[in-house]
Amino acid sequence: MKERACKTCRRIITAQICPTCKTYTLSYDYDGLVIINDYQNSQIAEKLNINENGKYALKVR
Ligand SMILES: [Zn+2]
Repeated sequence: MKERACKTCRRIITAQICPTCKTYTLSYDYDGLVIINDYQNSQIAEKLNINENGKYALKVR
């Protein structure tokens, strides 16, 4: 199954609904990819406002 990015939190998932924000606003059209393994000690996570580990897109259209 193709991965999609959540338009709200930018998380990349294969599910129909975002597990983080419980929304269906997912997009196939995204750029970049960051994997956050330790969001509490990640500057990228802080910059992107991520507070859960996972895969995230940098830009979602
Ligand atoms: Zn989300």
